[in-house]
Order: sequence, then structure tokens, then C-alpha cells
Amino acid sequence: MYDIKSMDIEELAVFVASMGEPEYRARQIFKWLQSGVSSFDEMTNVPKSLRDKLKDKSYIACCTIERKFQSKIDETVKYLFKLYDGEFIESVLMKYEHGYTVCISTQVGCNMGCKFCASGLYGKTRDLTASEMLSQITAIQRDNDIRVSNVVMMGMGEPLDNFENSAKFLRLVSDEIGLNIGLRHISLSTCGVVKGIDKLATLNMPITLSVSLHAPFDDIRNNIMPINRKWNIQSLISACKRYQAVTTRRISFEYALISGVNDTDACAKELARITKGILCHINLIPANPVNENSFSKPQRGKINSFRNLLRSYGLTATVRRTLGSDIDASCGQLRRRLREEKKSADIQ
Ligand code: SAH
Repeated sequence: MYDIKSMDIEELAVFVASMGEPEYRARQIFKWLQSGVSSFDEMTNVPKSLRDKLKDKSYIACCTIERKFQSKIDETVKYLFKLYDGEFIESVLMKYEHGYTVCISTQVGCNMGCKFCASGLYGKTRDLTASEMLSQITAIQRDNDIRVSNVVMMGMGEPLDNFENSAKFLRLVSDEIGLNIGLRHISLSTCGVVKGIDKLATLNMPITLSVSLHAPFDDIRNNIMPINRKWNIQSLISACKRYQAVTTRRISFEYALISGVNDTDACAKELARITKGILCHINLIPANPVNENSFSKPQRGKINSFRNLLRSYGLTATVRRTLGSDIDASCGQLRRRLREEKKSADIQ
């Protein structure tokens, strides 16, 4: 069975041609798929005979809402979606002045093993297809009757460890006939897969590359992010420079502040030193505590003084607003909770 929602218009044209159908049907089908239909019978301008042929040969990937949590503090909504094979992924809808942003997952679980992150606690189960990435957005649009304007690939998983599907997703989501979300409105976040950053540069897409740096010294970064033992800070920073030389896009460095780990003045100074010469923005995130680990965020005053210190070195740095803190809205927390609940239900 073909994954029809992962096909672009050209591939769809070949697919319908193989069934003896005219090419213009591809455009009609593509539009329906991107609008989020879950069955071929919803494609009312496609003849029944063709719908039946499509049903025989392909399936429409979808994300079914398993649970939904609405924040009482802000308008953030967290979704726990069930996939065709019973796996769960998380997505978050956030409302900003400039529109709706969806944070999508790119894998079920994650193999990167960052110590502070809930997504990597149980490793990676599988990659998501491009259609499953898209379906998180189409399901959320339908559920809220809204148009999403921005996407961040910052949910569960490492997008550059699922390169081809992530790249395909970027092409599909930005297609004018489909969701038409401009590449400039999309961020891809990586923990530092250097090989993937170089490959992404060859695509030269105007997306924002977000790099989860979190520490400016190799000894600290080795401890909290195992990927650093494969590609250390120097090789990561060199890759960022190469990426910027090709794309000319500003890079965003994510820096989760963890009390007593990476919040010293020496860290701020070194962060300024290593990012020198890169057009970038530093996004400071007060670390979210995850039960299994003992990491906690610094006091507010400490966070602000870290930011001010970076600014005094000439960097652009802001502290990210935490949305949905009452609904476990960060990375992997919800899936983890469901897993824990299921486990304790099994025991009882
Ligand atoms: N694998 C990609 C994208 C997913 S994680 C990456 O590493 O960038 C999205 C962001 O959330 C990353 O910057 C990640 O480091 C950060 N993050 C994960 N757990 C966190 C936590 N407990 N507190 C703060 N930020 C966290």
C-alpha cells in the first residue's frame, strides 16, 4: 500500500497515470489530502471509480486525537496523537500575536539521549513519515477550524536523524497548492547532527535552523548531550558557519538554562566567544524539570543576569516565554506520563 499523503504533485501524477487517469486529478487529490481528509470518499470531485482504485492501492496517513490538554494559563493546547500502529506522538498548538504555531514531532521517541529531555528516555521506536508530520498540522487545523501559519520541528525526535522524511515534509508543507506554509515560517531544531546540517545546507531552503547548544564547553556538553562525543562543539560551530555561508540565514541557538550546570558567568563568556562571527540569536529556555532527572531551572534573577551578560558581549539573547507549563507541554512529557499511567495500570 502506498502512503499517498507523502506524495508530491509530480509523484501523484505518475500514480494516477499508472491507473489510466488524467494528470489533472493529481492536483485535486493533493488539495484534498492537504486539507486533512481522512477518507477517499470525502474527495467529492473525484469520480467514485478512481476513489476505489486509490483505496485499493494506497492509504491516507492520519493522526487520531487520543488526548487533548488545554492550558488554563494561556491558549496552548497539547495533543497526544495515536498513529496507525498504536504508537503515540505529541504536538503543541501555540497562539502568538502573529498567528498559530504548531510544534510537531518527527520521530516516535528519540535516540539522541539528551539527559534533560523526556523524549529520549526510552530511545527511538521509529521514524515518522512526511505524511505523519503533515497530519499533525492538518488534524490540529481541523480540530480548531484555524489556519496554522508557523511550524517548529521541535517536538519529539531528531529531524536530522530522519532526514529524507523531514526534507520531504518541508517540500510538501510549503507547496502553494497545499498548506502553503512559507519556509521562512518554519524552524527545524537539531541537537547537532553535523552530517545532517551539511546535507540541509545543500537544499538551501530559507527555513530557520535552530541548534540546541545548551553548553559552550565540551566537558559539560559531553555530559548532558551524548551527540557531542560524536560531533564536538568546534565541529558543530564550523558546520553552522558553513550552513550560514550557503543560506545567509540567521541561526538560532537554543540554550536551556540548568541550575548549577551551564548558568555560570564563564559559560556566558565562552558562549559569546564561540558564536562570534555567526549571525545568530540566543534563545534562553529555563529548563523544564523532568521527573527522572535532577535538573532544575535557575532562579529568575540568575536567568536575567545570564541574558544581560550575553547582551553585554554584543549577542542578541532573549528568554523564551514558557507556554503551557501547567499541561506538561514540553517535549516528550505527555507520552512519558501516559506510559507511566499504563505501567501502573498493568501492575494493579
Ligand atoms: N531533537 C531536536 C528537536 C527536539 S527537542 C533538538 O534537539 O533540537 C526541542 C528543544 O527542546 C531542544 O532545544 C531541546 O534541547 C529542548 N528541551 C528538551 N528537553 C528540555 C527540557 N527539559 N527543558 C528545556 N528544554 C528542553
